[in-house]
This record gives sequence, C-alpha cells and structure tokens, in this order.
Amino acid sequence: MPEKVIPIRLAAPPARAPAPHYAGGAFADTLGRPLRDLRISVTDRCNFRCVYCMPREVFDENYKFLPQPQLLSFEEIARLARVFVGLGVKKIRLTGGEPLVRRDLERLIGMLAELDVDLTLTTNGSLLAKKAKALKAAGLKRLTVSLDSLDDATFKAMNDADFPVAKVLEGIDAAAAAGLGPVKINMVVKRGVNDTHVLDMARHFRGSGHIVRYIEFMDVGSTNGWRMDDVIPSAEIVRRIHAEFPLLQADPHYPGEVAERWRYADGAGEIGVISSVTQAFCRDCNRLRLSTEGSMYTCLFGQNGHDLRSLLRAGADEDALRDEIVAVWRARGDRYSEIRTAQTALPEAARLRKVEMSYIGG
Ligand code: SAM
Ligand code: SF4
Ligand code: SF4
Repeated sequence: MPEKVIPIRLAAPPARAPAPHYAGGAFADTLGRPLRDLRISVTDRCNFRCVYCMPREVFDENYKFLPQPQLLSFEEIARLARVFVGLGVKKIRLTGGEPLVRRDLERLIGMLAELDVDLTLTTNGSLLAKKAKALKAAGLKRLTVSLDSLDDATFKAMNDADFPVAKVLEGIDAAAAAGLGPVKINMVVKRGVNDTHVLDMARHFRGSGHIVRYIEFMDVGSTNGWRMDDVIPSAEIVRRIHAEFPLLQADPHYPGEVAERWRYADGAGEIGVISSVTQAFCRDCNRLRLSTEGSMYTCLFGQNGHDLRSLLRAGADEDALRDEIVAVWRARGDRYSEIRTAQTALPEAARLRKVEMSYIGG
C-alpha cells in the first residue's frame, strides 16, 4: 500500500528564510544563496516552434534572431566557464534554443569537459540520433531530452514543426547506446493539450532506467499566452500516476535540486516533478543563466541581463570578470516564482518584457 498522502498545494508558499546550509556564505546573494549552477544558451534558434516556448506567430520568418558576430564564440564561452567554475559553479548545462543546431557544438563540449564540473545538455532530441556518439566522445556525460507526448498528433501540435515522436525516441535510444544514459525526459504539461498523456509517458518509460520529469507550464517570456488555468499542479500529476503505480517520495540528490523525486514502489525506477508554479523553489535557487550573446540573468523570469561580452571583448582580465560576476550575484534578490500571482504573470503587468526562454535557455 502507498505510504504517503500526497498534498495538493495550489498557491505559492510564502517566502521562507534561506536554508541554513546557505546562510552567511562569503559569496552569496542577498538571500544567502550560493552560485552553483550555470546554464549557457548557445543559440537563440530552434528547429521546433513549441507553442509554449516559441509560438510560430511570434517566431516567424520576420523574427530577428541574433546575428553570428553577437554570439559568444566557443573560446569566449569556455573562458567565462573557467571563471565561473573558479567561483564555485559545480554544474553547467548547455541549452538554447536548440543547442544541437549550433554548428560543431562537440568542439565546445570538448573544451568544457576539461573543467572540473558536471556537464550536461538539454535538447529537443531531433538531431540526437545523428549526434549522440560524437557528443559522448567529446566528453558529455549525460543529457535531458524534451518530449511532451507519445501521441504523434499531440506531439506535432505542440512542437508545431511536424516532428514525429519516433525520431525523438530514436534519439533517446541512441543516447543510451552511446553511454549517455540514464536520460532525463522533460514533459511540459499543459491542461487540455497533453495532460491526458501523463500516464502513457509513465507507463512507457517505467523500467527503462530513464527518468520522466513532468514540468508545470510556466509563464516564462511574454509570448506564450500563459494562464494559471492551463497549469496542472504537479501534485495532481503525482496523484494520477500514484493511482496506477504507487509512488514513494525520494530524497533530493543535493540541496536546491529542481525536481522533486518520486520512486515507483515496485522498484521500476523514478519520476520527477518540477513545480515551479505551485510550489516555488526560489529559496534554494542557485542558478545563473548566460544568454547566447553573453548577458548574465539571475532569474529565469528576468527582464535585464548583465553584459559580460563587452567586458570580455574590451580585454578584461580574469579578476575583472570575477569581480563583475560576484557583484551581480551579491546584489541578487530574485524570487519571482514565490511572489507570482495570476496578475504578475500577465505580460501587460510587467513594465518591461520578460526575456524569452529560447534566448536565455531553460
Ligand atoms: N530546445 C531544448 C529543449 O527543448 O529541450 C532546450 C531549450 S528549452 C527552452 C529547455 C526546456 O524548457 C525544455 O524542456 C522545454 O520543454 C522547457 N520549456 C520551454 N518553455 C516552457 C514553459 N513555458 N514552461 C515550462 N517549461 C518550458
Ligand atoms: Fe525549441 Fe526547446 Fe523552445 Fe521547443 S522548448 S521551441 S525545442 S527551444
Ligand atoms: Fe530561481 Fe527565478 Fe526560478 Fe525563483 S523564479 S527558482 S529565483 S529562476
């Protein structure tokens, strides 16, 4: 019998004091949070047009993506990454846009693999069957693949690029065969669109060693038409899966882990839920994002970046880069998800537009 009663909490909890393990560090933000996790967006382009991320009406043929000279070069990214690792960053995730559309990404991975850091990547999987071996050979250890449904019609409606499920599954298999498993599989759940496929996904990947992570649809950016009504609370997802396959809550791997872990009581592996809307996890947020053109964002819901590219290109030395990063982090007080309401999430509520996820990376 299941041991755990699963709570449903719809409202974001009030802000809490920083967790003790973060309190008072020499290099922490205003809420006592250290910098541990860096997400680097290597391109703002993508071959999908997921309706919740890059809606085709906005990201159409007239949309102005960044011109090549504005992108950080691999050498610039690697140089910054070294500085970040020297400041205590333990994990780097390459993202985008779609990271695998950036030419020769393996070369960057090779450069970053030399650092003492947990190196990973998030991809839509479309090019993975072709690239998995080369990514592994370059030094990638593991990856996350996004897949919103196993039903072709639903998946195609969500990626809006007519891309079939089978090709993503092929990519996941290729990644596992190349030694990049277990693969984490991200499913963004949107009410009335793919929420009836939550169980199919659990059924399919149970026992495979891969880990499905259900993500609440977020109001990131200003273009995806987010409404609170479209969010299926993670607790509801856990309850639905639990009704068919009993689940037990598992401990986080480390403080600040984004996904809440649940394992199947029968030993068939685990799932994760990412409840950024209904159970905000800002108090442990140790993530910094570096945009494709080299701006730092201290929150996924940020409006303004802090330009590092200009410093880099003006010949700044390591100390100057370090000082800038530390100053930005020390001034950080972001906790958007904790103070989000249906009103603040509306694009018109923001005086400035929130930055798009395809630009700063998920
Ligand atoms: N293109 C890659 C991919 O899709 O995996 C990497 C970039 S994508 C922005 C990173 C992650 O953000 C994906 O798992 C995607 O599903 C998720 N994502 C994008 N928009 C989202 C939204 N509005 N709410 C929740 N998750 C979102
Ligand atoms: Fe592209 Fe990923 Fe955004 Fe989908 S979620 S449009 S695959 S960047
Ligand atoms: Fe971190 Fe901002 Fe997300 Fe809160 S809302 S968890 S501060 S990125």
